Amino acid sequence: MGLSGNTANIKKNILQQLEILEEESFPRHLLVSPELAARLAVITHAIDREVAVYLDRHGKVNEVMLGDSNTTLLIKTQIRRSTSRLSGLRCIHTHPGGDSTLSKPDISCLYECYLDAIVAIGTLNGRVTTIQAAFIEPDYINETGKSQDKYRHYGPLDSEELEAFPFLDILMEIDRQIINPTLHELEIKQEKALLVGFKQQKGSLLNGEDSLIELEELAKTAGAFVYAKQLLNIDKPTPGYYIGTGKLKEIALYRQEHSLDLIIFDNELSPHQQANLQETLGCSVVDRTALILQIFADRAKTKEGILQVELAQLSYLLPRLTGLGASMSRLGGGIGTRGPGETKLETDRRHIRGRINDLKNEIETIKKQRKVLRQQRQENRVPVAALIGYTNAGKSTLMNTLTNAGVLAENKLFATLDTTTRRLKLKQTEILLSDTVGFIHKLPHQLIAAFRATLEEIKYADLLIHILDASNPAYEAHIQSVNAVLHELAADDIPAILVFNKWDQVADTVELSRNLHEYEPALPVSALTGYNIPELLELIQTCLPNQPTLVKLLLPFAQTSLLSRLYKEGEVLAVEYTEVGISCSARLTEPLLSSVKPYMVKEAPVN
Ligand code: GDP
Ligand code: MG
Repeated sequence: MGLSGNTANIKKNILQQLEILEEESFPRHLLVSPELAARLAVITHAIDREVAVYLDRHGKVNEVMLGDSNTTLLIKTQIRRSTSRLSGLRCIHTHPGGDSTLSKPDISCLYECYLDAIVAIGTLNGRVTTIQAAFIEPDYINETGKSQDKYRHYGPLDSEELEAFPFLDILMEIDRQIINPTLHELEIKQEKALLVGFKQQKGSLLNGEDSLIELEELAKTAGAFVYAKQLLNIDKPTPGYYIGTGKLKEIALYRQEHSLDLIIFDNELSPHQQANLQETLGCSVVDRTALILQIFADRAKTKEGILQVELAQLSYLLPRLTGLGASMSRLGGGIGTRGPGETKLETDRRHIRGRINDLKNEIETIKKQRKVLRQQRQENRVPVAALIGYTNAGKSTLMNTLTNAGVLAENKLFATLDTTTRRLKLKQTEILLSDTVGFIHKLPHQLIAAFRATLEEIKYADLLIHILDASNPAYEAHIQSVNAVLHELAADDIPAILVFNKWDQVADTVELSRNLHEYEPALPVSALTGYNIPELLELIQTCLPNQPTLVKLLLPFAQTSLLSRLYKEGEVLAVEYTEVGISCSARLTEPLLSSVKPYMVKEAPVN
């Protein structure tokens, strides 16, 4: 990881931008996110050289490279090469002339490094023109010695086509066609699972049946094939096996007959119970907590998210290590046992404790950085609205509908793990809208602790947009779960709008409409069909404090640091490099507004 290439003569603020980039992650399902493309275009313009970013399959930046002014070849030489699989890295680089056509060296880089893809961004005067991409032809890997003339070419793509580009589908298709791939990151192994729920749910908002339905969604999200479900009636869990011996035998037999790989318990098992059950049932046994941890681990995207999940997993595993080590390694890497990596599990507890400490320190550092960012944001009063709500309520879908942000939305729990922030244009102003992690009942306490920092962001929002699935009969319990977490975060006095989403699916809209006034301000919408979306935008506008001002500026070329401040703290709408200076329009609030006073061309009225 790092920054390579000749960095002499590069201005400090650009170096800073490059350093920030090195630590970042981008949506892994996008070939290249429009945001990343725009930023690379600006950097390329500023240094007048080609820039390349290598992303791994999680979307995390692996390396940033700068070209010399006259070379066009940015080969990452240290890629570990295997001749039987792709490297798991894609190279995204700029073509300063504006022409995104892939060059011969680009294609040989694709083949020499076994890249997932090579992507060229045509850039002109700090803006993106078009984007083209090429993928390896799997035959090349299967039959060594094939020529490099054949490759899969896509583009030129404009920004809209880019967001719809099925990057992961293409990549998975190629991975599947490679005969001996050893890189399975994107492959979902389907384990045949039996779910075991319990009628009695002490201190829980959902009843046993609804809880089991939710467990099924969780299991699917984790990639399991739900073969069967059982709802048991158990008065008092036994300390040894949780369930009684009769039931135990029954399940053991059932598992054998139907050759199941996995049994998932809806209630939390003690380490002792889990070990005993695995021994007797002869397959992987996990509980709801392990399942949720697994899902978080699979979906963590940002550095902070990845660290937090590892911390939560290790805290969960630590008391479970004794007596479990042997059976875990025998069972291999299935759901709930994949954990933070088999090799790590084999190391001793002391090592894990050390790792837990390191993780805590790293997270603490990130937290401090986050605080600085938040302070900057607060000083500048760019209003922030946070989308919150029970998982699967439609937050990501609504975010997409509102902003065309291209946030991953799918019918799986926890499709969104990390916070994504996008701009949202309202009638009178622009705001930042952030999509947050979904809430869920019986959230493992390790995770509440781990994700506190992420959830804490909610506390600093100006407005909460609380979304619920109005078609789910348990919606009131969901509202209560969310409110309970808000209360715990001391965020219950932030103005909130209650959005009754999936209105298109509500069975009795007349009946539900009658109840809406209890939740004011509330609005029925459908993020899917677009029903009431304009009304929602208006409601957000009315509930928001503090509005920024639209200004047009002409900055001297020497003031590039001011320009980067505008990007960071304001809402830059357009930038043009003219002969007399950098012309730009932006929406700004105080105190930034005052600092740019000398460069204002005219103060346009807010439209
Ligand atoms: P999140 O977990 O809150 O971010 O939920 P998602 O946005 O990922 O949505 C979960 C599922 O609900 C997806 O399958 C969406 O297509 C679906 N969905 C979201 N909004 C609506 C809606 O208004 N109507 C219907 N019928 N489905 C919706
Ligand atoms: Mg989501």
